[in-house]
Order: sequence, then structure tokens, then C-alpha cells
Amino acid sequence: MTDTVEAPAAVKPINHWISGAPHAGRSGRSGPVFNPATGEQSGAVDFATAEEVDLAVQAAKQALPAWRALSLAKRAELFFAIRELFHAQREELAKHLTREHGKVLSDALGEVTRGLEVIEFCCGIPHLLKGAMSEQASTGVDVYSIRQPLGVVAGITPFNFPAMVPMWMWAPALACGNTFVLKPSEKDPSASFYTAELLKQAGVPDGVFNVINGDKVAVDAILEHPDIAAVSFVGSTPIARYVYETATANGKRCQALGGAKNHMVVLPDADIDMAADAAVSAAYGSAGERCMAVSLLVAVGDVADPLVEAIKQRIPKVKVGDGMDAASEMGPLITREHRDKVASYIGADDGATVVVDGRDGCPADGFFLAPTLIDDVKPGMKAYEDEIFGPVLSVTRVASYDEAVRLVNENPYGNGTAIFTRDGGAARQFQFEVQAGMVGINVPIPVPVAYYSFGGWKASLFGDRHIYGPEGIDFYTRSKVVTSRWPDPATSKVDLGFPQTR
Ligand code: NAD
Repeated sequence: MTDTVEAPAAVKPINHWISGAPHAGRSGRSGPVFNPATGEQSGAVDFATAEEVDLAVQAAKQALPAWRALSLAKRAELFFAIRELFHAQREELAKHLTREHGKVLSDALGEVTRGLEVIEFCCGIPHLLKGAMSEQASTGVDVYSIRQPLGVVAGITPFNFPAMVPMWMWAPALACGNTFVLKPSEKDPSASFYTAELLKQAGVPDGVFNVINGDKVAVDAILEHPDIAAVSFVGSTPIARYVYETATANGKRCQALGGAKNHMVVLPDADIDMAADAAVSAAYGSAGERCMAVSLLVAVGDVADPLVEAIKQRIPKVKVGDGMDAASEMGPLITREHRDKVASYIGADDGATVVVDGRDGCPADGFFLAPTLIDDVKPGMKAYEDEIFGPVLSVTRVASYDEAVRLVNENPYGNGTAIFTRDGGAARQFQFEVQAGMVGINVPIPVPVAYYSFGGWKASLFGDRHIYGPEGIDFYTRSKVVTSRWPDPATSKVDLGFPQTR
């Protein structure tokens, strides 16, 4: 359901944010926002028209000259204020995530903390924007490079990290001197609206940060808007491909991060308990709705039986429930449709063995599915091929390390992968030859720290720059090289030859 004309009375309207103020949608179209723990509709989010997208872009365009002219010292000072305010309000922000996404509050706080790290990185923007200088490149000639903002840039974000993924985009974009239009997921948009309120409170001038809510209409208006210079996207692979192709065809710079099927390889010498703890945490945390979740366990040789048994023992101890309940460790899925789709993988593949069926013993209300474990999953099966994006862990048994690496490398996705072993040589070989953008060695969810950059390979990323960190600064700026001379007028003469440096 995407076109709710009239929402139930208790439902909160969620507006756009343009030029430093809420902007009630005028399209007459809105989408329902649910509390996934109860299944009840809690909000109705406005869906923008192309004209409303244009309003936000014009606001960002108007704010641009003053924002990009703000000194680096003042921009850094403002980022320290932003950091302090978001840190102080992190629990409130996390509650927005739990209420609309469903993830448990401690996990939501973890998301906010990882996003804050990107803001902290941006506090060093004066250092990050330093160029290079060559004095006396030619006699009396100096050459130097500077990095300048692109202009108005846009971010389109997924439902699964409603605060952190936008922070990956708006923080470096603003720090670099761009102004921003955010189109968050229509499934959990309140965190973006709250972000806008906080940024205003921190002192970010009106129009520098805008939020446009909506669906494909808003996305297409962004992709086609002539005044938007660049688009960052995070979401599923088919939409990432579409966004990349459309944005670049419209002359924009684009980075589009897509889906994943992250393999965790466990070698026979691995510590079984440590590998089982890691697999349970990485497969079922946030109900498996993480692009870095482990969804496939590749068990090498005779590690398979004890590993499957150790995971099976741990699953009943995972407390599934409302994310607002401090006792809960895993919350619901985002929507009823998504929960039903994820559940449809259980028992769907002939030859695979359902070890733990998450449909058993779930809370009755809300969009819950408990941790599920499927063994004997092979390439070609649905559970192997699809990004399920839920609390379903599949186990594939292989005979050798080589077979395990071949599986990872043949997979169309290349976001994250991990190896569990006590053998340093094997781990180093894995790091050397595995085809994925982020690799964990005895670390199951290797999301890079903020001063590195995040991004996958193959169908997990379209574009050539990863997100946040140094590559994020690169993405949101373009370089200019200046060749300068302050000559003595007495030496001036006409010379039609190509400039020489010697
Ligand atoms: P999604 O692709 O459905 O939606 C992402 C964004 O695209 C949303 O803002 C949505 O409104 C918009 N959108 C959806 N359909 C569209 C269409 N037809 N045309 C134009 N825009 C459209 O993704 P999602 O379900 O919100 O998020 C889950 C997906 O995101 C998973 O595949 C997950 O792996 C991926 N993800 C990837 C990363 C990463 O860093 N690689 C991080 C988080 C999530």
C-alpha cells in the first residue's frame, strides 16, 4: 500500500523539510509508516511531486553561495556543535529508529554511534580538504591543487539504517561545502526529519539541508533535476543500477551502493564457539536486515557438524521481541510483506534441511520472524542465490578452502566477507584473493571505521568511489589545479609556443 488518502486518526503526519522548516506535502499522496513491533500504522509520510523536489533543490541552490564561502574554521566549529548535539540526543534519535524500523534500542544506539563517527571524521574537514603545492614548478611559476564542492547534491537512502546511512552522505557533503537534499526511505522517515531539526538547532543555515519524502516520483525528479550535481544512493541492487544509469545519463556524478550476499567462511581449525557466536550475532542482529549481515555460512570440511550444532544451541537463547523492551535482542522485520517474503524461503528448496524454523514461537502481533537456520544449501537454490534480507542463515558445506573461495568469488555480489581460522597464512591468502570490498578476519561484520571508506565490489556498488572516509571527501569535491606566476612586467613578452616547464 503506498497511496493512503486518509490516514487513521492517531497517525502522525510526516512532512518534508525545506529551507529550514517543515513543508506539508501538497501532492495528496502519502505512504503508511508502521510500528513493526505491533503492526499498527503510526504515521503517514508525504510523497513529493517533482515540483516539491524542485522547491527543495531551489532552497539548496540559494543557500549554496554563502555555505561554500563559509571559512573552514567556521565549518569545523559548526561540525563540532553538530557532533555535540547529536551525541546529546542520540537516545532520542535511536528511539525514532526503533519505533519505525523495529531494531532493538541498543542496536539503534549502535547505529547512531557509528554514524556519529562519520560526523567526528568531518570535524577535521580543514585537514581533509588540504591540496598540494609545488613551488617553482617552472621558473617563477607555482602549481597547486584545491578541492571545491560540487554544488547541490542529493542522497537516496534505504530503510535499514535510517540515521547512519544518511549521515554517511550529508556529513561529508556538507563538510565539503555542498548543500544537500535527502530522500530517505518512505518506510521509516522520522529519523531524517529529526535530523533536519537537530541540524537547524546546531546552527546549520536554512536551505543547506533539506528532506524530501516520497517514492519513485521523488527519486526520478532528483535523478533528472538539472541543478543536482551528484547523487549518492544506498539500497537494493536493481534500484542501485537504475539510479546509477539514470543519474550518469543525466550528467551527474553517482555512487550507488547495492545489495549483498555475505559469505562467512569457517575453516576446520577455527574456534567453533567463537565462530558460532559470530555467526549468530551477524546473521540475526537487526533481524538480518543489514547489508553486512552474514547470510551464508561456508563450512569447510569437518567443521560443519559441530558448527551447525553450536549455532542450533544458541538460537533459542536469542530473545525476540519489541525493540523498546530492554530484554529484547532481536526485533521484527520492517513490513508484513517483507516478513512473509522472508518466511517463504523456509522449506522452499528441495534438498536443503530446515534445522530451526523461525515461524515457530514468534510474537503474535507485529512483523516478527525468529532466527532460522537452513543447512545443506547449495548454489542454484533460492536460499543460496537471493539476498533474503531477514533472519535466515544458510549453511553450505564444502570440502576445501579453494572451493570456499571459489564460491565467494563467483557470487555476483561482493560487499563483505569473513574468514574464521587460527591459520594466519590462510587468512592472508584469503585477504589476497577474495573478491569483495570489505573483508573480516575473525570479524564477522567488517564495516570500516570512519577514516576508511565503505563499499563493495561487483553488483554491490555502481560507481568508482566508496562512501564516507577519504573516498567520500573525494566524491563530494572536484579538484582544480592552479598554475600561477607573479612576473616582473619587465620580463613579459609574446610567446606562441606550448608552455614549457624547463
Ligand atoms: P530499496 O532499493 O527498495 O530502496 C532504497 C531507496 O530507493 C528508497 O529511498 C526507496 O524509496 C527508493 N526506491 C525504491 N524503489 C524505487 C524505484 N523503483 N525507483 C526509484 N527509487 C526507488 O532498498 P531498501 O529495501 O530500502 O533497503 C534494503 C536494501 O538496501 C538491501 O538490498 C540492502 O542490502 C541494501 N543496502 C545496501 C547497503 C550497502 O552499503 N551496500 C547498505 C544498506 C542497505
